Amino acid sequence: MTEPATKALHAGSADRGVGAPVLNVLSPAASFFSHPDAVGFSANEMTDKAPYFYSRWSNPTTDLLAERLASLDGGEAGLVFASGMAAVTALFLGRLKAGDHLVLSNVCYAGVAELAHDLLPGRGIAVTAVDTTDLAAVAAAITPRTRLIHVESPANPILRLTDIAAVAEIARAAKVEMSVDSTMATPLGIRPLALGADFVIHSLTKYIGGHGDALGGSIVGAREPLAEIQRDALIHYGAALNPFAAWLILRGLETLSARMAVHQANAEKVAAFLSSRPGIAKVYWPGLASHPQHDLARRQLTNFSGMIAFTTEGNGTAIARRLAEKLEVVAYAVSLGKTRSLLCYIPSEDIIRSSFRLEGRDRQRYLDWTGEGTFRLSVGLEDAADIIADLDRALG
Ligand SMILES: *Cc1c(COP(=O)(O)O)cnc(C)c1O
Repeated sequence: MTEPATKALHAGSADRGVGAPVLNVLSPAASFFSHPDAVGFSANEMTDKAPYFYSRWSNPTTDLLAERLASLDGGEAGLVFASGMAAVTALFLGRLKAGDHLVLSNVCYAGVAELAHDLLPGRGIAVTAVDTTDLAAVAAAITPRTRLIHVESPANPILRLTDIAAVAEIARAAKVEMSVDSTMATPLGIRPLALGADFVIHSLTKYIGGHGDALGGSIVGAREPLAEIQRDALIHYGAALNPFAAWLILRGLETLSARMAVHQANAEKVAAFLSSRPGIAKVYWPGLASHPQHDLARRQLTNFSGMIAFTTEGNGTAIARRLAEKLEVVAYAVSLGKTRSLLCYIPSEDIIRSSFRLEGRDRQRYLDWTGEGTFRLSVGLEDAADIIADLDRALG
């Protein structure tokens, strides 16, 4: 089994015995029978061989999901968490301690930006947010205290890409770890570990779950650091994923490969439509030849995903209000990577102030990309002709 489409269905499955069910087994149990002296009751004494005994430690359904994701991302081990934010928090608090320094993509999921800017400094962890598309800026941001470079690519919400292999080389030369949040691309679109990153993170809430009915997050990487993160974040902080959510996400994962093919094909048509539509100013989809980093996209992405960012001529807030009222196929709602198309508007000054805290040249680069605001469209699995007709009519 070597191909992602097959791994998404089969990796980690164990029992092929006579009478075994041909599906992902849901085990909602909180606790399990176990041999009383097979395991100590301290997380510090946990071993790989410990039997299941309590679901905050491990659970057959969440373990299956973690193992399947590790196989897809090409890592030694995987962990799953209650949400994507729980996974990012587990990574930051696991790999950084007081006195350490984090280098972060200055455009990333707003919750991650706020976690880094508002919560880490209070724990003695310094943060420098840089434009990770600027390799010289990444290298210049590294100090003797830097322990981690966290990159999001493609970056939510503007679909700016980072050259992961190039940043990984800078990280390796500086003996700094690198993590990549590639939620927007999925393991079908990019393999950050193969490009040199140490950890890959996904919000499972998005494409991997795919149906918008369960929150979840994951980290894949080397066995040793993940064992530490498991002990601290899952067992002690208690960020464990509910087995029922894991089971829903496993079911979503079975169709990931088929869905990503349709998301990409639909996005190609919708991006072409938007590019030629009067009233639309800029369209960003990594698969478009007009994307400023299309060459990098072709080099590092094996699926261009279903996410499109676009800007409008005229007042974005007013257009957003009209779209929210008039759209019938596309839902005006946050989140992304769902079966159904989703659209929302992100005013630039708001997100710069509340989340990214950009100043000077970085602020100007964001505004050059987005103007006064960006529409983030998660192109769903509806017929592309219906998505296009809906947008065309609602844009007026
Ligand atoms: C949604 C998202 C997150 C956070 O995930 P949750 O499951 O909502 O906690 C992190 N990173 C990216 C890129 C996201 O899109």
